[in-house]
Amino acid sequence: MEESKARKLLVNTGKKLLEAGLVARTWGNISCRLDAENILITPSGLDYMKTKEEDIVKMNLTTGKWQGVRKPSGERRVHIAAYQAFPDVNFVIHTHQTYASALGLAGFEQLDITKEEKEALGGIMTADYGLPGTKKLTKAVKAAFQAGAKAVLMKNHGVLICGNNQEEAMSKAILLEGICKRNIKGDFEVTQDIKSGKAEKLLDAIKEKFRYAALVQTPAVLSCANRRTPIYAQVDDMAQMIGRKIPVVPDNEAAQALKRLNAVLVPGIGAVVRSESEDDMKAIKLLVDKAAICSIHTAACSEKARIGVIEAVLMKFVYKTVYSKQKG
Ligand SMILES: [Zn+2]
Repeated sequence: MEESKARKLLVNTGKKLLEAGLVARTWGNISCRLDAENILITPSGLDYMKTKEEDIVKMNLTTGKWQGVRKPSGERRVHIAAYQAFPDVNFVIHTHQTYASALGLAGFEQLDITKEEKEALGGIMTADYGLPGTKKLTKAVKAAFQAGAKAVLMKNHGVLICGNNQEEAMSKAILLEGICKRNIKGDFEVTQDIKSGKAEKLLDAIKEKFRYAALVQTPAVLSCANRRTPIYAQVDDMAQMIGRKIPVVPDNEAAQALKRLNAVLVPGIGAVVRSESEDDMKAIKLLVDKAAICSIHTAACSEKARIGVIEAVLMKFVYKTVYSKQKG
Protein backbone atom coordinates (compact mmCIF):
# COMPACT_ATOMS: atom_id res chain seq x y z
CA MET A 1 0.00 0.00 0.00
CA GLU A 2 1.10 3.55 -0.72
CA GLU A 3 2.56 5.11 2.44
CA SER A 4 0.38 8.22 2.53
CA LYS A 5 -2.75 6.10 2.07
CA ALA A 6 -1.65 3.73 4.82
CA ARG A 7 -1.03 6.62 7.23
CA LYS A 8 -4.49 7.98 6.55
CA LEU A 9 -5.98 4.52 7.07
CA LEU A 10 -4.36 4.17 10.51
CA VAL A 11 -5.59 7.62 11.58
CA ASN A 12 -9.13 6.79 10.48
CA THR A 13 -9.09 3.34 12.07
CA GLY A 14 -8.18 4.90 15.43
CA LYS A 15 -11.25 7.10 15.25
CA LYS A 16 -13.41 4.15 14.22
CA LEU A 17 -12.20 2.07 17.18
CA LEU A 18 -12.99 4.95 19.49
CA GLU A 19 -16.48 5.34 18.00
CA ALA A 20 -17.11 1.59 18.25
CA GLY A 21 -16.17 1.75 21.95
CA LEU A 22 -13.37 -0.77 21.47
CA VAL A 23 -10.73 1.56 22.88
CA ALA A 24 -10.76 4.58 25.20
CA ARG A 25 -8.41 7.46 25.65
CA THR A 26 -4.96 6.62 24.25
CA TRP A 27 -5.22 2.90 24.93
CA GLY A 28 -4.80 0.29 22.24
CA ASN A 29 -2.79 0.69 19.06
CA ILE A 30 -2.94 -0.09 15.36
CA SER A 31 -0.41 -1.05 12.72
CA CYS A 32 -0.21 -2.12 9.09
CA ARG A 33 2.37 -3.73 6.86
CA LEU A 34 3.87 -1.23 4.47
CA ASP A 35 6.26 -3.42 2.46
CA ALA A 36 8.48 -6.44 2.95
CA GLU A 37 10.66 -4.54 5.43
CA ASN A 38 8.50 -2.00 7.22
CA ILE A 39 5.30 -1.45 9.14
CA LEU A 40 3.48 1.71 10.17
CA ILE A 41 2.25 1.97 13.76
CA THR A 42 0.37 4.48 15.89
CA PRO A 43 2.49 6.56 18.29
CA SER A 44 2.78 6.09 22.04
CA GLY A 45 0.26 7.79 24.33
CA LEU A 46 -1.47 10.02 21.82
CA ASP A 47 -5.22 10.64 21.70
CA TYR A 48 -6.80 9.03 18.62
CA MET A 49 -8.78 12.18 17.89
CA LYS A 50 -5.56 14.21 17.85
CA THR A 51 -3.41 11.74 15.92
CA LYS A 52 -2.41 13.03 12.49
CA GLU A 53 -0.83 11.27 9.53
CA GLU A 54 2.62 12.66 10.38
CA ASP A 55 2.37 11.24 13.93
CA ILE A 56 2.31 7.68 12.56
CA VAL A 57 5.67 5.96 13.02
CA LYS A 58 7.49 3.89 10.39
CA MET A 59 9.32 0.89 11.80
CA ASN A 60 11.66 -1.71 10.37
CA LEU A 61 10.46 -5.26 11.08
CA THR A 62 13.91 -6.78 11.35
CA THR A 63 15.96 -4.11 13.08
CA GLY A 64 13.17 -2.51 15.13
CA LYS A 65 14.53 0.93 14.13
CA TRP A 66 11.91 3.58 13.67
CA GLN A 67 11.59 6.97 12.05
CA GLY A 68 9.18 9.76 12.75
CA VAL A 69 8.47 12.72 15.00
CA ARG A 70 6.99 10.52 17.73
CA LYS A 71 7.89 7.35 19.58
CA PRO A 72 6.10 4.21 18.36
CA SER A 73 3.54 2.57 20.64
CA GLY A 74 5.05 0.92 23.71
CA GLU A 75 3.26 -2.24 22.65
CA ARG A 76 5.05 -2.43 19.27
CA ARG A 77 6.71 -5.77 20.05
CA VAL A 78 3.49 -7.77 19.85
CA HIS A 79 2.66 -6.12 16.52
CA ILE A 80 6.05 -7.05 15.11
CA ALA A 81 5.57 -10.60 16.34
CA ALA A 82 2.28 -10.80 14.40
CA TYR A 83 3.84 -9.77 11.08
CA GLN A 84 6.72 -12.14 11.61
CA ALA A 85 4.44 -15.05 12.47
CA PHE A 86 1.93 -14.59 9.63
CA PRO A 87 3.04 -13.57 6.12
CA ASP A 88 -0.61 -13.04 5.14
CA VAL A 89 -1.31 -10.59 7.97
CA ASN A 90 -1.20 -6.97 6.88
CA PHE A 91 -3.16 -5.19 9.59
CA VAL A 92 -3.06 -5.56 13.39
CA ILE A 93 -5.36 -3.99 15.95
CA HIS A 94 -4.81 -4.02 19.68
CA THR A 95 -7.84 -3.02 21.76
CA HIS A 96 -8.91 -2.95 25.38
CA GLN A 97 -12.48 -3.94 24.47
CA THR A 98 -14.68 -4.66 27.46
CA TYR A 99 -16.24 -8.08 26.94
CA ALA A 100 -13.28 -9.75 25.28
CA SER A 101 -11.06 -8.46 28.09
CA ALA A 102 -13.47 -9.94 30.63
CA LEU A 103 -13.64 -13.27 28.81
CA GLY A 104 -9.85 -13.37 28.66
CA LEU A 105 -9.83 -13.49 32.48
CA ALA A 106 -11.89 -16.65 32.88
CA GLY A 107 -14.42 -18.99 31.39
CA PHE A 108 -12.86 -19.05 27.97
CA GLU A 109 -12.81 -22.83 27.55
CA GLN A 110 -16.57 -23.35 27.32
CA LEU A 111 -17.14 -20.51 24.90
CA ASP A 112 -20.43 -20.57 23.01
CA ILE A 113 -19.08 -19.94 19.53
CA THR A 114 -20.16 -21.30 16.17
CA LYS A 115 -17.82 -22.99 13.71
CA GLU A 116 -18.33 -20.10 11.29
CA GLU A 117 -17.43 -17.52 13.93
CA LYS A 118 -14.31 -19.45 14.86
CA GLU A 119 -13.27 -19.58 11.22
CA ALA A 120 -13.97 -15.90 10.73
CA LEU A 121 -11.75 -15.05 13.70
CA GLY A 122 -9.00 -17.32 12.40
CA GLY A 123 -8.43 -19.12 15.69
CA ILE A 124 -8.68 -17.64 19.16
CA MET A 125 -6.50 -18.20 22.22
CA THR A 126 -5.47 -16.55 25.48
CA ALA A 127 -1.92 -15.44 26.23
CA ASP A 128 -0.46 -15.45 29.74
CA TYR A 129 0.02 -12.20 31.59
CA GLY A 130 3.00 -9.94 31.12
CA LEU A 131 3.31 -6.23 31.88
CA PRO A 132 2.54 -4.09 28.79
CA GLY A 133 5.49 -3.76 26.44
CA THR A 134 7.60 -6.46 28.07
CA LYS A 135 9.42 -9.42 26.53
CA LYS A 136 7.37 -11.69 28.80
CA LEU A 137 4.15 -10.53 27.15
CA THR A 138 5.66 -10.81 23.66
CA LYS A 139 6.73 -14.38 24.39
CA ALA A 140 3.24 -15.31 25.56
CA VAL A 141 1.61 -13.76 22.49
CA LYS A 142 4.10 -15.47 20.17
CA ALA A 143 3.14 -18.82 21.68
CA ALA A 144 -0.50 -18.16 20.78
CA PHE A 145 0.50 -17.18 17.22
CA GLN A 146 2.55 -20.34 16.87
CA ALA A 147 -0.52 -22.33 17.84
CA GLY A 148 -2.29 -20.61 14.93
CA ALA A 149 -4.45 -18.05 16.77
CA LYS A 150 -5.04 -14.78 14.94
CA ALA A 151 -7.17 -13.37 17.74
CA VAL A 152 -5.30 -13.37 21.03
CA LEU A 153 -6.82 -12.45 24.37
CA MET A 154 -3.95 -11.08 26.42
CA LYS A 155 -4.77 -11.88 30.04
CA ASN A 156 -5.51 -8.89 32.29
CA HIS A 157 -4.90 -6.57 29.38
CA GLY A 158 -6.82 -6.71 26.11
CA VAL A 159 -6.99 -8.20 22.65
CA LEU A 160 -4.72 -8.50 19.66
CA ILE A 161 -6.41 -9.04 16.29
CA CYS A 162 -4.60 -9.90 13.09
CA GLY A 163 -6.24 -9.39 9.71
CA ASN A 164 -5.36 -9.58 6.03
CA ASN A 165 -6.47 -6.00 5.75
CA GLN A 166 -8.11 -3.21 7.75
CA GLU A 167 -11.71 -4.27 7.02
CA GLU A 168 -11.06 -7.82 8.12
CA ALA A 169 -9.28 -6.79 11.33
CA MET A 170 -12.04 -4.31 12.23
CA SER A 171 -14.84 -6.78 11.59
CA LYS A 172 -13.03 -9.45 13.61
CA ALA A 173 -12.73 -7.06 16.58
CA ILE A 174 -16.46 -6.29 16.44
CA LEU A 175 -17.41 -9.96 15.91
CA LEU A 176 -15.25 -11.01 18.85
CA GLU A 177 -16.85 -8.43 21.14
CA GLY A 178 -20.33 -9.73 20.24
CA ILE A 179 -19.34 -13.33 20.90
CA CYS A 180 -17.79 -12.39 24.25
CA LYS A 181 -20.77 -10.28 25.31
CA ARG A 182 -23.05 -13.25 24.70
CA ASN A 183 -20.74 -15.42 26.82
CA ILE A 184 -20.56 -13.15 29.86
CA LYS A 185 -21.60 -14.92 33.05
CA GLY A 186 -23.00 -13.59 36.29
CA ASP A 187 -25.87 -11.62 37.63
CA PHE A 188 -26.29 -8.15 36.17
CA GLU A 189 -29.76 -7.66 37.57
CA VAL A 190 -30.16 -4.66 39.80
CA THR A 191 -32.28 -5.92 42.66
CA GLN A 192 -32.22 -2.81 44.77
CA ASP A 193 -33.93 0.43 43.75
CA ILE A 194 -31.65 3.18 42.59
CA LYS A 195 -32.12 5.99 45.03
CA SER A 196 -32.08 8.72 42.45
CA GLY A 197 -32.75 11.70 44.67
CA LYS A 198 -30.07 10.53 47.08
CA ALA A 199 -27.60 9.99 44.24
CA GLU A 200 -28.00 13.50 42.86
CA LYS A 201 -27.67 15.01 46.30
CA LEU A 202 -24.45 13.12 46.86
CA LEU A 203 -23.10 14.16 43.46
CA ASP A 204 -23.84 17.81 44.19
CA ALA A 205 -21.93 17.56 47.47
CA ILE A 206 -18.99 15.88 45.72
CA LYS A 207 -18.98 18.54 42.99
CA GLU A 208 -18.53 21.22 45.62
CA LYS A 209 -15.19 19.65 46.47
CA PHE A 210 -14.02 18.37 43.09
CA ARG A 211 -14.33 20.12 39.76
CA TYR A 212 -14.89 16.98 37.71
CA ALA A 213 -17.16 14.40 39.30
CA ALA A 214 -19.83 12.02 38.00
CA LEU A 215 -21.99 9.02 38.80
CA VAL A 216 -21.69 5.66 37.05
CA GLN A 217 -24.94 3.72 37.22
CA THR A 218 -24.61 0.92 34.70
CA PRO A 219 -26.16 -2.45 35.66
CA ALA A 220 -22.73 -3.98 36.39
CA VAL A 221 -21.63 -1.10 38.61
CA LEU A 222 -24.94 -0.98 40.48
CA SER A 223 -24.80 -4.72 40.96
CA CYS A 224 -21.31 -4.52 42.53
CA ALA A 225 -22.25 -1.55 44.71
CA ASN A 226 -25.43 -3.17 45.95
CA ARG A 227 -23.72 -6.46 46.72
CA ARG A 228 -21.13 -4.40 48.63
CA THR A 229 -18.24 -6.13 46.95
CA PRO A 230 -15.19 -3.98 46.17
CA ILE A 231 -13.77 -4.19 42.67
CA TYR A 232 -10.11 -5.24 42.37
CA ALA A 233 -8.03 -4.39 39.32
CA GLN A 234 -8.09 -7.29 36.92
CA VAL A 235 -7.11 -5.35 33.82
CA ASP A 236 -4.08 -3.13 33.30
CA ASP A 237 -5.92 0.05 32.39
CA MET A 238 -7.84 0.14 35.66
CA ALA A 239 -4.60 -0.52 37.57
CA GLN A 240 -2.98 2.37 35.73
CA MET A 241 -5.66 4.98 35.96
CA ILE A 242 -7.68 4.05 39.05
CA GLY A 243 -5.46 1.79 41.12
CA ARG A 244 -5.73 -1.63 42.68
CA LYS A 245 -9.14 -1.36 44.29
CA ILE A 246 -12.46 0.47 44.10
CA PRO A 247 -13.78 0.20 47.66
CA VAL A 248 -17.37 0.29 48.90
CA VAL A 249 -18.06 3.25 51.19
CA PRO A 250 -21.24 4.64 52.79
CA ASP A 251 -22.53 7.81 51.09
CA ASN A 252 -21.42 10.07 53.94
CA GLU A 253 -17.81 8.92 53.54
CA ALA A 254 -17.60 9.19 49.74
CA ALA A 255 -16.23 12.75 49.62
CA GLN A 256 -13.50 11.93 52.12
CA ALA A 257 -12.51 8.75 50.27
CA LEU A 258 -12.37 10.59 46.94
CA LYS A 259 -9.57 12.79 48.28
CA ARG A 260 -7.15 9.93 47.75
CA LEU A 261 -9.05 7.79 45.23
CA ASN A 262 -10.77 8.60 41.96
CA ALA A 263 -13.57 6.03 42.21
CA VAL A 264 -15.67 4.59 45.02
CA LEU A 265 -18.76 2.36 45.12
CA VAL A 266 -21.75 3.50 47.18
CA PRO A 267 -24.59 1.00 47.85
CA GLY A 268 -27.88 2.10 46.30
CA ILE A 269 -26.12 4.72 44.19
CA GLY A 270 -23.48 3.04 42.03
CA ALA A 271 -20.01 4.51 41.60
CA VAL A 272 -18.94 8.07 42.26
CA VAL A 273 -15.88 9.10 40.28
CA ARG A 274 -13.76 12.22 40.05
CA SER A 275 -10.89 13.23 37.80
CA GLU A 276 -8.55 16.03 36.74
CA SER A 277 -10.22 16.75 33.41
CA GLU A 278 -13.31 16.14 31.31
CA ASP A 279 -11.35 13.73 29.10
CA ASP A 280 -10.10 11.67 32.02
CA MET A 281 -13.62 11.56 33.40
CA LYS A 282 -14.94 9.85 30.27
CA ALA A 283 -12.19 7.25 30.48
CA ILE A 284 -12.64 6.61 34.20
CA LYS A 285 -16.39 6.08 33.75
CA LEU A 286 -15.74 3.48 31.05
CA LEU A 287 -13.05 1.80 33.11
CA VAL A 288 -15.27 1.51 36.19
CA ASP A 289 -18.01 -0.16 34.14
CA LYS A 290 -15.54 -2.51 32.45
CA ALA A 291 -13.96 -3.37 35.82
CA ALA A 292 -17.42 -4.16 37.24
CA ILE A 293 -18.26 -6.41 34.27
CA CYS A 294 -14.92 -8.22 34.68
CA SER A 295 -15.51 -8.58 38.41
CA ILE A 296 -18.98 -10.09 38.01
CA HIS A 297 -17.92 -12.44 35.21
CA THR A 298 -14.87 -13.76 37.05
CA ALA A 299 -16.82 -14.18 40.30
CA ALA A 300 -19.39 -16.27 38.41
CA CYS A 301 -16.55 -18.38 37.02
CA SER A 302 -14.89 -18.66 40.48
CA GLU A 303 -11.75 -16.97 39.17
CA LYS A 304 -9.83 -14.24 40.94
CA ALA A 305 -7.60 -13.13 38.07
CA ARG A 306 -6.40 -10.07 39.96
CA ILE A 307 -3.36 -8.07 39.01
CA GLY A 308 -0.55 -8.44 41.53
CA VAL A 309 0.12 -5.68 44.06
CA ILE A 310 3.60 -4.94 42.71
CA GLU A 311 2.46 -4.83 39.08
CA ALA A 312 -0.44 -2.57 40.00
CA VAL A 313 1.74 -0.12 41.94
CA LEU A 314 4.32 -0.11 39.15
CA MET A 315 1.74 0.57 36.46
CA LYS A 316 0.11 3.39 38.38
CA PHE A 317 3.53 4.97 38.89
CA VAL A 318 4.52 4.65 35.22
CA TYR A 319 1.14 5.95 34.14
CA LYS A 320 1.34 8.98 36.44
CA THR A 321 4.88 9.91 35.55
CA VAL A 322 4.99 9.07 31.84
CA TYR A 323 1.63 8.79 30.11
CA SER A 324 -0.38 11.49 31.80
CA LYS A 325 2.45 13.95 31.07
CA GLN A 326 2.73 12.78 27.50
CA LYS A 327 -0.94 13.31 27.03
CA GLY A 328 -0.82 16.79 28.48
ZN1 LIG B 1 -2.80 -2.35 25.68
